[in-house]
Amino acid sequence: MSYKAEYIWIDGTQPTAKLRSKTKILADGAALPDWGFDGSSTNQAEGHASDRVLKPVYSCPDPIRGGDHKLVLCEVYNTDGTPHESNTRALLRPIAEQFAGQEPIFGIEQEYTFFDGSRPLGFPENGFPAPQGGYYCGVGADEIFGREVVEKHLDNCLAAGLGISGINAEVMPGQWEFQVGPLSPLEVSDQLWVARWLLYRTAEDFGISATLDAKPAKGDWNGAGAHTNFSTKAMREGYDPIITACESLGAEGKPLEHVKEYGFGIESRLTGLHETAPWNEYSYGVSNRGASVRIPWQVEIDKKGYIEDRRPNANVDPYVVTRLIVNTCCAALEK
Ligand code: ADP
Ligand code: MN
Ligand code: MN
Ligand code: MN
Ligand code: MN
Repeated sequence: MSYKAEYIWIDGTQPTAKLRSKTKILADGAALPDWGFDGSSTNQAEGHASDRVLKPVYSCPDPIRGGDHKLVLCEVYNTDGTPHESNTRALLRPIAEQFAGQEPIFGIEQEYTFFDGSRPLGFPENGFPAPQGGYYCGVGADEIFGREVVEKHLDNCLAAGLGISGINAEVMPGQWEFQVGPLSPLEVSDQLWVARWLLYRTAEDFGISATLDAKPAKGDWNGAGAHTNFSTKAMREGYDPIITACESLGAEGKPLEHVKEYGFGIESRLTGLHETAPWNEYSYGVSNRGASVRIPWQVEIDKKGYIEDRRPNANVDPYVVTRLIVNTCCAALEK
């Protein structure tokens, strides 16, 4: 007997990478071998030397196919054995290892927007829906668009064994969120990429598409972010490390270094309106959803916990945002 392994990888599309996948039939019990693909069709190679290598790094049950079938997330390598330049996971590995002793963990809030053809799900064919106000965590057919897809996606994530921790309807019609974590940097990133693949794949069966576009509707509509919640063991035990982490993110040169890798179109979303801080000004504060980094109110009361970096766009690469935050905050906390 055999099983189907869906090999998933992140391509080289600019400015925002896309997910790709293809199926390998494996004998029952067989380990997951390296595989190859045509990099010239994914912006990862030239046609004259097109072979790229898929190295399995994370696998889980495939909730779409069921049975013993598997999803297999891969890193992309060149044929000479070096990581491909699009392989941002390879850059996270050494940083995660360097600071593993601090036990950094992340919970990422993935916002996204369903599209029905060329407009957000719930937007009328002509004009606009009622202004924002009732949609966030709403209920009822006048507020909610796509719940059947969201529920199916949640069930699929749970069946896959992903560390998904919740879902909610967002501020704009057709906009939703799921959270992954808290987990270690590599775990949260791998599982977020698989959860994204499952989102697209689940919605596909409903004839609906999903996008991580940071500003899918222009005008007075909320953008889509990926708030990144972060703590180390020391932050989970005391308040001084919480402040150290917030300060380190605001140190000379750091705000720009981070924000320019926090996803495509950051200026379109971090305008200072719609619960964001301006992209070029760093601030942090308790309970403040207009700050770059928020200390949740409960964390100030408990004098320990975690911080929320509100800047990353929905289309951020989790391997990149977790690497930057660990690198900046854990280096400061080590002192
Ligand atoms: P918000 O109030 O900003 O909408 P959410 O409930 O959507 O918050 O998301 C909070 C996220 O923070 C969740 O993914 C949760 O798992 C994560 N989280 C909770 N505690 C910690 C912690 N100590 N370190 C890192 N992440 C955490
Ligand atoms: Mn072929
Ligand atoms: Mn949230
Ligand atoms: Mn949200
Ligand atoms: Mn949040």
